[in-house]
Amino acid sequence: MVIDFHTHTFPDALAPRAVAGMAAGADMKNYSDGTASGLRVSMARAGIDLAVLAPVVTKPHQTEGINRAAAEINAHTHETGLLSLGGIHPDTEDPEKVLRALAAQGFPGIKLHPLFQGVPVDDPRTLRIVELAAELDMIVLIHAGADPNFPGLDYASPGRLAVLLRRVPHRKIVLAHMGGFAAWDEAEALYGAPCFIDTAVAMGPWRRKSGELSPEPPMSAERFVRAVRAHGANRVLFGSDSPWSDEAEALAAVRLSGLAEAELEAVTGGSAAKLLGLAASP
Ligand SMILES: [Zn+2]
Repeated sequence: MVIDFHTHTFPDALAPRAVAGMAAGADMKNYSDGTASGLRVSMARAGIDLAVLAPVVTKPHQTEGINRAAAEINAHTHETGLLSLGGIHPDTEDPEKVLRALAAQGFPGIKLHPLFQGVPVDDPRTLRIVELAAELDMIVLIHAGADPNFPGLDYASPGRLAVLLRRVPHRKIVLAHMGGFAAWDEAEALYGAPCFIDTAVAMGPWRRKSGELSPEPPMSAERFVRAVRAHGANRVLFGSDSPWSDEAEALAAVRLSGLAEAELEAVTGGSAAKLLGLAASP
């Protein structure tokens, strides 16, 4: 089973504006239209069986609406192969109530994006949410490193992520982008920590809308293989960040990186299936 652990979609009515807005804001090229059906076309082309959707609540008042749409997605996972995390903002009113409701509805976890949400990952509000998620045994996918939408902002730097990992031990934390987008040196300090990391857009190439390559240097394949081995392939999850990279291209980059067969099997789906509780019993 091939699993893409890091994707984004938007409701059909909002997708054109949301994707165009982000693409313009960060000068990023989008590789699908940001709708659920667009993602399914991309998955079929790439040979991906299951995609995990990571909704980002950028304003606390959006929490309910985003989670209603996410629950609707999850009512059809068996037909669509789309499985959404829940959304929450560190300033969401009564986060405990929201998280308990998500857990009761069977959501496997939540997504946090410290830069889009404007709250550092080591802020007490974030720590509280991760603590609650740990109590409820929920996955917490967290953006890690820089973000082209917020140049220079360090709210999810590997150093701050290390503080979170120290303060709130929770084995189901997933740090996106190999632990630190465009902060590859700093992220090395996180490898081996008791958390998962995803591969989203680490190896690039990511492009500007014009088609030019972005200036941030991607991780080389050699460095990627070293990083996977340093952290442990059983805790590395393939992710594309679709629509911000092409799923087929991202998967090919992982497959051609030089990992051994067993490592590839773990990274491209085995590790994620275990984390999601989908692994077939022996
Ligand atoms: Zn993302």
